[in-house]
Amino acid sequence: MSSARIEVAYLTWQEFADRIGGQIVIIPVGSVEQHGPHLPLGVDALIPYHLALRVAERLPALVAPPIWYAGPSDPASGGGQRFPGTLAVRGTTLIALTMDILAEFFRQGARRIVLLNGHFENTAFLAEGARRILPPEDATGRKVVLINWWEHVPADTLAGLFPEGFPGWEVEHASLTETSLMQALAPDLVHLERIGSDIPRRRPVPRHKAFPEPPGLVPETGILYTAAGASAARGGALVQVLLDALGQLMAQEFD
Ligand code: ZN
Ligand code: MN
Repeated sequence: MSSARIEVAYLTWQEFADRIGGQIVIIPVGSVEQHGPHLPLGVDALIPYHLALRVAERLPALVAPPIWYAGPSDPASGGGQRFPGTLAVRGTTLIALTMDILAEFFRQGARRIVLLNGHFENTAFLAEGARRILPPEDATGRKVVLINWWEHVPADTLAGLFPEGFPGWEVEHASLTETSLMQALAPDLVHLERIGSDIPRRRPVPRHKAFPEPPGLVPETGILYTAAGASAARGGALVQVLLDALGQLMAQEFD
């Protein structure tokens, strides 16, 4: 199915006006951040964007233009700001952007909004923006739900899909799940031949943070764990699990 009827950016103003009040609006949020030698900089937005398009076909929902520029990259969970291509905005900018975009959708008549996030470091800033637009005392009936996609993959799914062992979400940067999902969702953007099998496990990142950020906290490739176990089939299975989980969660939150 063409996404022309799902994506806000492709609607005319009359089509938008007809649909905005009655449908869930999904805003994909990502980052521009290195994702190893085999994946593009936009992975963190591309995964929620493609998931959103598929969820939207089922619900139905509208998919808003993604937030591409977002929070910084932390070596504890990503590659860090040292890598070429990692372009972040400051946290206060992301909070302000979140507030502005939510306020505009609500002003235009939206009632139910999902922030579908693909970049861990965004989480607190997105929550801050949403909380300031919809504080606890808000009685308008409007609602925002913030979803980090990786928090909705059941542990038994991971155990089944990666029997050789799942190394943990803290090293899932350009590794098994992101690579598999990209192979399933946007295979043209994955450079399979550049996935090495000999990527060392990284050293433990210290519990404290030092600035300027020291070199050497992540492997030179930018991958925190080898992606050799990734595959399109595993990605496809993950997509199905995620579509079910996201659909259920949205139905439950917005019944
Ligand atoms: Zn990522
Ligand atoms: Mn990221």
